[in-house]
Amino acid sequence: MNRFNDVTLVKNLVKQIREFEQEVKIIEVCGTHTRAIVESGINQLLPDNIALISGPGCPICVTTQGYIDKAIELANRDEVIITTFADLIKVVGTNNSLKQSKALGGDIRVVSSPLEAVKVAQENPNQEVVFLAIGFETTAPIIALSIMEADRLKLDNYSLLLSLKTMPAVIEELILDKEVAIDGFICPGHVSVITGAKGFDFIANNYNLPAVVAGFERVDIIMALARLLQMIDNGISRVDNLYSRVVKAEGNLKAIAMMEDIFEVEDSTWRGLGRIQGSGLGLKKGYARFDAKNKFQIKLGYQEQDLICSCGDILKGKKSPLDCDLFAKGCTPLNPKGPCMVSEEGCCNVYYEYRR
Ligand code: SF4
Repeated sequence: MNRFNDVTLVKNLVKQIREFEQEVKIIEVCGTHTRAIVESGINQLLPDNIALISGPGCPICVTTQGYIDKAIELANRDEVIITTFADLIKVVGTNNSLKQSKALGGDIRVVSSPLEAVKVAQENPNQEVVFLAIGFETTAPIIALSIMEADRLKLDNYSLLLSLKTMPAVIEELILDKEVAIDGFICPGHVSVITGAKGFDFIANNYNLPAVVAGFERVDIIMALARLLQMIDNGISRVDNLYSRVVKAEGNLKAIAMMEDIFEVEDSTWRGLGRIQGSGLGLKKGYARFDAKNKFQIKLGYQEQDLICSCGDILKGKKSPLDCDLFAKGCTPLNPKGPCMVSEEGCCNVYYEYRR
C-alpha cells in the first residue's frame, strides 16, 4: 500500500497532531496549499492551539492595483494587444478591470503561455504585443524563454509589463514581522521545484525556524504538519524536503540558469505588503528593449493600501477572510472587490467556495 491511501498512517499522524499542546502558528506560503488544506478539511481537524495561516503565495493576490491600472492604460491604446493569463483580467484596479476594458473594445487576449504571446507578436507585426508578466519563480523561467524566443526571432513588437516576484525576501519580511510571529513554514511546493529545497535553507540557518517542503495531497500536508510540530517540540530548526518525488535539493538548474540569463533581482511592490527590497525580477540591461515600462514610458509607482479590502492583512496571516465585512456579501468570485477573491489560489476565493 502506498502512503496516499494508507488510512492507518493518516490516523496516526492526525493523532500525533491533535496531541500537540503548545500554541503555534504555522504558515502555508502557497495558495495551492491553502486550497488543498480547506478542500480536504484539514483545517477543521486541527485543535485550537494550532493556527494555520495563509501566506502571500498567490501571484494574482499580490499584484497591485497600480499594475492593473497600467495594464488597462496600455490596453486602451489602439496599437497595443495585451496578452495575459486568464485570472488577471478579473482583478479590479483602482476603478475597473481588464475584463471591463475588453468589453469596451480593448484587444486583450488570454493565453496559456507567454510563448503563445510571442506567436501573437509574430502574427501581428504592426501591433505592439505586451505580455502581463506576473508570478513567482514558477513562471519566471517560461517568461525568460519567451524573451529568448523574441530575441531569436528579432521581434521588436513584443514586451513584458513586469511584476515578477520571488519568495525569499517576502518570507524574510514575514519572519521579521513580530505581529505575525510564525513558528514554522510549509514552503511553496511549486516554487521549490524550480529553486530546490535548498532555496529555503535560510529559514533555518538565519532565523532558527523549522520548515518543510511539501506536496499537495492530503497525506503530504498532514505529514508536513506532523513533521513541523515534531521539530518545534524538539527545538529543531531544519528544512525537510518531504516532496522529494518532485523537488530536488538543488532545484531545476536549467530553469534557474534561464532566469539568471534574462533577469536580475530588483525591488518589487506587493499588494498589501508594500515595497520589499530584492523581492522582484527585472530585465537585464541587454534585454531592456523588451520592457514595456521603457517602451511606453510607464512608471509603476508605490500603491496606497486599499482601505476597503483586507487582502493585505490576510496575506500576512493577520486576518482571516471571515474577518472581512465584505466576505460573501459585497465581495464574491463573481463580483470580487479584492484579488484574494479572484484567483482559485486566493484565500478568500477558497474560503468562499468551501464556506458552510
Ligand atoms: Fe478583499 Fe473581498 Fe477578501 Fe474582503 S473578502 S479581503 S474585500 S478579497
